[in-house]
Amino acid sequence: RLVSRGSDLLIMRGTTESQLFNVAKLINATDVLFNRGYSPSDILMEEKVSAYLTKKGIHTISWQGNVLCDSDLLLKKDGTPYQVFTPFWKNFLKVYRSESTFRQKRKLPPFPKQMDLRGCDLNDLQLLPPLKWHEAFHQYWKVGEKEAGRKLRRFLSQGLPTYDTHRNFPGMSGTSLLSPHLHFGEIHPRNILASIEATCGPLSDVRNTDIIQFCKEILWREFSYHLLIHFPKIHLDPLKEIFKRYPWKKNRKWYSAWCRGQTGYPIVDAGMRQLWRSGWMHNRVRMITASFLVKHLGIPWQEGAKWFWDTLVDADLANNTQGWQWTAGCGADAAPFFRIFNPISQGEKFDPQGKYVAFWCQELSKLPPKWIHRPWEAPAAVLDNAGIHLGVDYPLPIVDHQEARKRALWNYEVMKHQKS
Ligand code: FAD
Repeated sequence: RLVSRGSDLLIMRGTTESQLFNVAKLINATDVLFNRGYSPSDILMEEKVSAYLTKKGIHTISWQGNVLCDSDLLLKKDGTPYQVFTPFWKNFLKVYRSESTFRQKRKLPPFPKQMDLRGCDLNDLQLLPPLKWHEAFHQYWKVGEKEAGRKLRRFLSQGLPTYDTHRNFPGMSGTSLLSPHLHFGEIHPRNILASIEATCGPLSDVRNTDIIQFCKEILWREFSYHLLIHFPKIHLDPLKEIFKRYPWKKNRKWYSAWCRGQTGYPIVDAGMRQLWRSGWMHNRVRMITASFLVKHLGIPWQEGAKWFWDTLVDADLANNTQGWQWTAGCGADAAPFFRIFNPISQGEKFDPQGKYVAFWCQELSKLPPKWIHRPWEAPAAVLDNAGIHLGVDYPLPIVDHQEARKRALWNYEVMKHQKS
């Protein structure tokens, strides 16, 4: 689709090859330049468009749009892709140091203002869903490059100095909140690293753990893209094939309780409600909620990934897939399956005062920190004082933690011993 917004021309997904050709002809273009996408459908579409335009005599040139490095620059010595993060990161530091193209800034001339290529108005496309749940997002998110730059500056001065210690606490503003901006290309990871290097010097010489940890997270994103590019079915199938044999269960009732933040485990419910209401969830809580779905409820990771895909403002095929496969134990450099997050102790460790839970699960907000992550164990008088009637105001746990843990470990053994 072609959409005119002021003097910008946005060429959107769904534009046909012939429409694109007509525009190119209209403005006497000899080349069509575009940022590469990395999902299988993007790759297919780009191949189709390139072939069509080339046949019509128009050159197409693609750029590494929103990753740091071309996928063939970061390979193991034997030419195969990395599946472990640390050597990927170490190699990146070497390549990044020597690869000057990373830092070159190229600018395209602006689109000629006098040219009126009005196709249709953005609102005509009716891209927003009829269910108005997204309207609440406006209080949390502002769209655009300006906002991305503002967030980066604020994070560099206020968040980065304590990143390594604060990043795991969902009740603190310890992370950059740049993920949606990165996903939509409103900021490039290269700009982020360049801003850091401008004050700290070359990345490979930095020793500050806060800075290193943050840069590593940016590289986890890169690693996710590396995996998606080299294993293009990774969003469908587990990287560790053996997990195809895991005896998953499709329990609609449990799945629905998880989606709605009604599992009876406060840290899980707070995370799922934060996701629904703000379109985002803290990374630590993404791991806890994902682990709960996969291991406590035994529901396939693909089902959880689908819900995140539909509800996250930063939903990103590469990162989402990697996050889910990592948590489920079937991805690259994944957490071992048998390390099962305990939603009670995770809550107590990373939300010790229960501030995060109290904010997203208001009905629990009057519970003292001692009980807020395990309300079903609270004495009746404490529940009374907090105005909670369990099973009415807030659900009882849908599964017992210890039993669910045992069941997951049992299923894991079954999977290991099943013949392929
Ligand atoms: P910061 O801590 O400030 O990190 C800066 C940037 O580094 C992030 O914006 C992100 O681009 C990248 N990053 C940070 N952590 C990770 C990580 N674990 N893996 C890959 N990149 C990372 N991230 C998405 O952008 N989109 C998703 O759809 C997505 N789905 C996820 C699903 C699961 C189950 C899990 C466990 C993680 C997922 N993540 C996803 C990764 C991570 O949770 C978010 O990137 C992070 O919470 C975004 O917040 P931030 O920008 O404040 O991060």
